[in-house]
Amino acid sequence: MSDLKVRFAPSPTGYMHIGNTRTAVFNWLLAKKLGGKFMLRIDDTDVLRSKKEYEDALRDILVWLGFNWDEEARQSARMARYDEVVARLKAEGRVYACYETAEELEVMRKKLMTKGLPPIYDRGALKLTAEQISAYEAEGRKPHYRFKLIPGNIDWDDLVRGHCHYDAANLADPVIIREDGSYLYHLPSVIDDADFGITHIIRGEDHVTNTAAQIQMFEAVDGKIPTFAHLPLLTGKEGKLSKRLGSLGVRELRAEGVEAMAICSFLAKLGTSEAIEPFYDLETLAQSLDLTKLGRSQPKFDEEELKTFNTRFVRNMPYDAVKGRIKSDEAFWNAVRGNLNVVDDVNEWEQICHQTVKPVIEDKALTDVAAELLPPEPWNSETFNAWLAEVKAQSGKKGKELFHPLRKALTAQENGPELKTLLPLIGRDRAYKRLKGIEA
Ligand code: GLU
Repeated sequence: MSDLKVRFAPSPTGYMHIGNTRTAVFNWLLAKKLGGKFMLRIDDTDVLRSKKEYEDALRDILVWLGFNWDEEARQSARMARYDEVVARLKAEGRVYACYETAEELEVMRKKLMTKGLPPIYDRGALKLTAEQISAYEAEGRKPHYRFKLIPGNIDWDDLVRGHCHYDAANLADPVIIREDGSYLYHLPSVIDDADFGITHIIRGEDHVTNTAAQIQMFEAVDGKIPTFAHLPLLTGKEGKLSKRLGSLGVRELRAEGVEAMAICSFLAKLGTSEAIEPFYDLETLAQSLDLTKLGRSQPKFDEEELKTFNTRFVRNMPYDAVKGRIKSDEAFWNAVRGNLNVVDDVNEWEQICHQTVKPVIEDKALTDVAAELLPPEPWNSETFNAWLAEVKAQSGKKGKELFHPLRKALTAQENGPELKTLLPLIGRDRAYKRLKGIEA
């Protein structure tokens, strides 16, 4: 066990989508690879938008993906802790009250923008006199609170982006508490990361500027600054993927038969210098993780590509990887997997081989001859070829004209695994009846 500890911190304001699943994949794999811990943190400070239904669905998907967690926390249960830290930061002057309305802030922002200046808050609130504050309060204005950044350089070595540098003078003091007293994500996240001893934060690059401000927050709460890795965001057809854009839900992919390990394999290698290959267990995938192989450009996520990859994944899937989920034995699985699109398709072949099928007779003369030529059991790997040679000789048919009617009679399907493989699975009794046009 190393002391590495990562967290996946979803906000339960929507379903798990491909973007946050990718963040979970990288965090979980890193913990696995390095023998560290993986924590689930529910970021539910937004009480209005957070829903139990979303949280349950997030957990369900994590379990399905195989991402067990060693520890969990919920931000809404830690308010007293945040209040305590904020009280201290207020006393130290690192957190200060502001009285501007959203409209006033917007006007200020526009003014700066028209002058070509960055829209950085001017800290007007720090210049308010006691009388002005009382006047605002008498008016019924409620303060929101900002975290005061200290001028100077903010630097970190990002595991994906390399050396990162910000000048605090170019950043606005982030708002950490809204007018209604509710917390924004930034400070609670830092307090949690510090309290729970998070050593590595892997998240999307949309958080890079937050990181700059949060590094100062870690210092302010005497927390150890974790190592950061910011993943380039995925882009989809409709631009950046995010739950707000209603992007692809993992639940839907799952319902369509996309395998959990196919998603993990795909997401772990997308945008890296490595080829996307099927991995059939998380342990092996974790051992292959190398953050330095991630490129800096935003990888394109294409749902169709994932689905094509899933087909390839299923068709090569070792029996061990499906064992507990299907009724078939190993020989059956190996015989049919090359024809499946999703794992559940195996049931169709189970039915065709072991349950009643209504045969389709296309060439009665041929299938009648074929029925009579079926050798007695036991059958071995030579049986099919010997039988087929006889059928060919007696019927004079070859190629598609030979195979297609046999397939339709034996399976009632247009396509499928090789007849050579299927015939012994169907067995003589059923095969004979089906070739004779009898439902069997
Ligand atoms: N709840 C935040 C989000 O989903 C977590 C960001 C972070 O990893 O710090 O964006």
